[in-house]
Amino acid sequence: MDSLSRTAAYQSWPKTMDFLRDLNKENPDRVLDYRLLHSIFTGTYWNLQNLWMGSEAKGTIHDEFWYFDVKLLTQKLQKQGYTAGYISDLCFHYPWRDKDNTDKRNVRLKKFKKHLDASELNTTGISLASCEILDKAIGSFSSFTPADVCFNGDYQFIQQLDNLYNIQTNWIRHGYPFFMSTESNMNHNMGGTNVKHIDSHLEQYLRKVAKQPDVITILVSDHGNRFDIYYMQKYFPEGQTDVMHPSLFIILPENPLRFYTQSELTALKINQNRLVTMRDVHYLLAKYTTSSPDYEIISGEKGLLSPISKERRCDSLTFTKGNFFCICEPLANDSFPLRGHEVDEVIRFTRYHLNGKISQAPVCKKMDLVRWEDKPFRIYPNRTASEPLLITGYVYTTHREKSIIFAVEVAKDLSTNMYTFSSFLRLDTYSKYRKCTPPGVDPTLCICESYNAKPQKIT
Ligand SMILES: [Zn+2]
Repeated sequence: MDSLSRTAAYQSWPKTMDFLRDLNKENPDRVLDYRLLHSIFTGTYWNLQNLWMGSEAKGTIHDEFWYFDVKLLTQKLQKQGYTAGYISDLCFHYPWRDKDNTDKRNVRLKKFKKHLDASELNTTGISLASCEILDKAIGSFSSFTPADVCFNGDYQFIQQLDNLYNIQTNWIRHGYPFFMSTESNMNHNMGGTNVKHIDSHLEQYLRKVAKQPDVITILVSDHGNRFDIYYMQKYFPEGQTDVMHPSLFIILPENPLRFYTQSELTALKINQNRLVTMRDVHYLLAKYTTSSPDYEIISGEKGLLSPISKERRCDSLTFTKGNFFCICEPLANDSFPLRGHEVDEVIRFTRYHLNGKISQAPVCKKMDLVRWEDKPFRIYPNRTASEPLLITGYVYTTHREKSIIFAVEVAKDLSTNMYTFSSFLRLDTYSKYRKCTPPGVDPTLCICESYNAKPQKIT
């Protein structure tokens, strides 16, 4: 499920959560709830690529139909005799990365089918019908389910779940070992309340599959509530934590020893209270991509299947991308608040650095960045004397009574006392500014006086 924090999962799915609790009452540890799943990026792709590829995740986006990277996992599973399928609700017609793509519908359909063929998936369920559903429901092929999309009175995800259930039941009947993945973007919108409407249906689906012997169900979201800008900005640190704190539930079969060894099951239980990421989830599946019992020798990692260190902290997640709020902040690290004139120094440096990136583009307004209300600046001690200190914090400015907010990270070299800029993340929506941003300039930094200003050439 796209964009669903752990808190939001509990709040949105009371029936589903009750059912999962009941399963655990009947059979302790049947349902595992990972309390500290850390999103490894604020966006979808890097999380999913780590799910499909584990430590082989490369971060290269080979094509706009990027979600078919799932084949990197499914083809390995197929070699081991598994039947594999993938149901997505993203419409192929919508140019996801290449917004200027003007290919006609049939050209895009051909491209999409080529990718399907190359993926060698055994089924894509009702994925191809997604466009028809969107078109019928809202008269658009636009991707990412708007708040009111439904078809014949049902949300698209309900159709996906029914389709998934029919496929898996059929495969079980025929005795096929199988892997199915179903992806929904229904919560990818402001407010993030769409998922509430599927609570009953999800509970019914899980109730049915929990009765199927030898089925593991993984219910996971890629990242937290990322689109509720008001919540992200106004509620601190809750809003920031919710962006990076997705939900992960694993429903084990009644006899989990058919899938995992006793020590792996013990690790799965322990890791419910450890800091984990989507990359750790990968190894639940990777185990089945090889006939070797020592699959970790190949991968060098075991993820959730071996106990994760209690000492793991946000800064040990080296493969994370961008500037983010640690979900264990401030407990997971030795950071402490930065005070007084040092904060002013960092803000001055940030203002200078970020404005420097747009100085060549006159259409982008110079940003008079100041400290974001009372939000903390934190300093992270270095491990060795040669490493710089890291400082994180928040700066903002206003434009047309709207807050423009950046999370920033700078490094301070102790020998020279010089700052270098590490990363920044814009927290408010900036899509409106895309049009007026000149090519070659980061639209997250370009605040044009008018949204419709013509993007001038960089001088
Ligand atoms: Zn996402």
